[in-house]
Amino acid sequence: MIRKKTNFGYETVSPEEKTERVEKVFSSVASEYNLMNDIMSFGIHRLWKKFAVNSCGIKKNSRVLDLAGGTADITKLVHSRLSQDGHVTLCDINENMLNYGRDCLINSGIINNVDFVRSNAENLPFRDNTFDFMIIAFGLRNITNKETALYSMYKKLKFGSKLVILEFSKVTVPIVDKFYKKYSFRFIPMLGELIAKDKNSYKYLVESIQVHPDQEEISSMMKKAGFRKIKYTNLSFGIAAVHVGYKI
Ligand code: SAM
Repeated sequence: MIRKKTNFGYETVSPEEKTERVEKVFSSVASEYNLMNDIMSFGIHRLWKKFAVNSCGIKKNSRVLDLAGGTADITKLVHSRLSQDGHVTLCDINENMLNYGRDCLINSGIINNVDFVRSNAENLPFRDNTFDFMIIAFGLRNITNKETALYSMYKKLKFGSKLVILEFSKVTVPIVDKFYKKYSFRFIPMLGELIAKDKNSYKYLVESIQVHPDQEEISSMMKKAGFRKIKYTNLSFGIAAVHVGYKI
């Protein structure tokens, strides 16, 4: 029997090993994750997140899923757009990240109209046709079986509703790409060591960006899962991209 292999950064590993090691990465970095994000991206990740949430077009009474929501950054932005009739679910596979996100929300006074679910995105434990909007920010590249996860997302969305994916992507300007790669490989693991005392997790994060499918490939994967009217917008020269697709 041929055993399917996958990537953990630049390493080729079994799907089970990837899931296990991704779990370890996020358990290790959870408490310093947002501080590191702010430093690594000079705070730009917050603008990308706002752009992604704005791309949803959330209504006051929407039911929204923040998938792989860990830090709760997206949940916070979504929550601020909802009324008492709306609801946001923060779902993540990792207990430490989920606890971190829950604490951030409580500290911001967000307690109502939000719930927390621990689950693998590949097998979402919700009824089919539940959500008006689904958003996954910087989560897709960490998922072992992206096709299975995209199909699971598709099933849980209502007809006529929208999936928004924010993820690192392929830089479209060669000079920016050269500088970005140098910066990522030289400084990010070093910063990880200095701030989070964990160089290897940040080495994985940098490598995982490089092996993640590009904008066109993500679009085809979304199409294969059933999404239609797929569009993407490059952010900061393609360092990140927002994909939007509909279940119609
Ligand atoms: N969305 C948050 C943000 O943008 O700040 C957190 C992003 S963090 C880079 C990636 C998150 O994906 C982690 O919290 C991790 O636990 C979660 N994750 C990884 N694999 C997952 C999976 N298979 N299913 C659900 N969540 C997953």
